[in-house]
Order: sequence, then structure tokens, then C-alpha cells
Amino acid sequence: MRSFINKNWQRRMTINYKNITVAGSGVLGSQIAYQTAFKGFNVVVYDINDEAIDRAKERVAKLKPRYQTDLGASEEDVNAATNRMSFTSDLSKAVADADLVIEAIPEVVQIKLDFYKELGKVAPEKTIFATNSSTLLPSQFSEATGRPEKFLALHFANEIWTNNTAEIMGHPGTDSKVFDDLVEFAKAIGMVALPLHKEQPGYILNSLLVPFLEAAQTLLLKEVADPETIDKTWMIATGAPKGPFAILDVVGIKTAYNIAHGKGRAGNEGSAMLANLLKTQYIDKGKLGVETGEGFYKYPNPSYEDPEFLQS
Ligand code: NAD
Repeated sequence: MRSFINKNWQRRMTINYKNITVAGSGVLGSQIAYQTAFKGFNVVVYDINDEAIDRAKERVAKLKPRYQTDLGASEEDVNAATNRMSFTSDLSKAVADADLVIEAIPEVVQIKLDFYKELGKVAPEKTIFATNSSTLLPSQFSEATGRPEKFLALHFANEIWTNNTAEIMGHPGTDSKVFDDLVEFAKAIGMVALPLHKEQPGYILNSLLVPFLEAAQTLLLKEVADPETIDKTWMIATGAPKGPFAILDVVGIKTAYNIAHGKGRAGNEGSAMLANLLKTQYIDKGKLGVETGEGFYKYPNPSYEDPEFLQS
């Protein structure tokens, strides 16, 4: 155990980890690695081959200006973070002195199972394993790790440096001390730690968000009201800064389509109709959401951001 003073939090916390390995350096893995290094930890980034490592370095280079503009970080701070990072495609080397491995590899059960079996063999006994999986449960992989008591989920949101939630979720066999340590670690890397007391598919966020977004889309499908009216209702009545269709534009309409299409194929007639609506009215017209400049709203200045929107 060592004492760790987190400069940005200006308070003393006891953190049991010093060396962190992030496995998988794609969209989320590169963000988790950089954020962790930015907060003062030593970080080893592991990915499958040299090409993936090169892509990881490019991703990290692109994060630096975001930290400067979004967080006001200095040139010195963003460079110090990269200096605390190293990269390798050799798993044994990557975890040789790891206190914690955060896994952010593809959301495919077999890929994760194979990874944990291998990781369990090469990681030192002290190493804690945490998965960033969005939809899979830790109990699906706990046996494969060979150390179920030291395994749990640590789930981040995209654009981790500003959307700083960290949902922490064990499985029935997770050691409570390991769980508590991970809560402290999450805080130390600038996250708001959100502990879950039970395993729950979708954690807290998606357990709330997915049914909410589906309810809004059902209103649209039934032609009860248009997206602007639905969003306006939600925003005025609850004080929320965005309504469900504005959120869908951020998530991406393709993701909403994939979910509806999957449920439609499984026999849900309403979902099949919704998938068809999203495809014909939006996707086929190139309206995929914020990323293409248009979805339910037009960007960069969507109407819901206009103060007039909530007045009439
Ligand atoms: P991604 O496809 O962007 O990145 C996956 C990375 O894993 C790639 O760099 C790939 O080369 C690497 N990889 C593949 N097989 C590997 C292996 N066997 N060992 C090590 N690395 C391997 O994926 P992502 O969007 O970053 O998602 C990763 C995980 O994070 C998933 O479990 C996902 O559910 C979760 N997640 C994603 C988001 C998101 O918004 N993208 C948000 C929260 C959680």
C-alpha cells in the first residue's frame, strides 16, 4: 500500500495501485490509458500487434489537444502523461509488474474468454483484472481469469476526460476489498465512482437510458408527436439539457437501428417497424446523427440549443 497525493484533487487518498496495464487500445482503451497516465500512474498499453500499437500512439497524440482545449491542461502536463506511458504487443511483458489490468478489447465473448485464460497464466498473483465491457457480465469471465476474487468490471463512458463516470460492478465472487480499492482508484484517475451492489446488464446508465430512448422512439413510430415536441416536453418538464432524440443523435442513429433491428429479427414486430423507419427516413438519407451533421437535428447549431426552443 502506498500513499498517493493526487495533485488535481488536492486531497490525500490511499491507492493500492501504481502500475496499470490497459489491454486493447482502441476507442476506449486509448482514452483509459491516457487518462490514467494524465493522473500520475505508470501505464503500459498492450495490443495484439505492431499495427495496433501504432494506431494507439496516433490515438493518444490526438487526445493531447482535447485535454488542452477541454480541460485547460498545459503542454507540460499533456507531455508528462505520454512520458508515463509505454507500449507493447507482448502480453507477458505488459503485465510483468501490473497492479491492475484494465481490459478494453472487443465486445466478443470468445475473444475475451481467450484473453482472460492467457492473462491469468502470465500475470503475477497480485494483479487485479477489470473489464470495461459495456454489455457482458463479469460472471461470464470470472472462472476464465483463474482468479475470480480479483476480477470485476470498471466501466467508463466515451470521452472519459469530460464524461467521467466509472461504474464499478463485481460478480458474486469478487472480494469486497478489491471492489473498494477499485472505487478509490477510479476516484484517483478523476472519475466519479459509481458502485453497483449487484451484477446488472447495462449497469446503471444503460439500464436507464436504453428503455428511455426506446420509449421516445415508440412515440415517434406511433406518430404520437414529432421528435422536437417529444424532446421539448422532456426538457421543460425535467430541466434536462437534452431530450431523447438529441441524445440519439450523439449516440448515433446506426446504433439505435442495430438495437431495433436485432430485436426485430428476434420477433419483436414494433422493433422491426422502428428499424425500418430509422433506415428509410434517416440512415438511407445519410442522417446518422452528430457525426454526419444531421440526424433528428441539424448541426453544429441544433434547434434545441436555441433558447427560443423552450419558449414556444
Ligand atoms: P475498439 O474496437 O475501438 O478497440 C478494441 C481494441 O482491442 C483494438 O485496438 C484491437 O486491436 C484490440 N484487440 C483485439 N483483440 C485483442 C486481444 N485479443 N488482446 C488485446 N487487444 C485486442 O473497441 P472499443 O470501442 O474501445 O471497446 C472496447 C471495450 O470497451 C468493449 O468491451 C466495449 O464494450 C467497451 N466500451 C466501449 C465504449 C465505446 O463508446 N466505444 C464505451 C464503454 C465501454
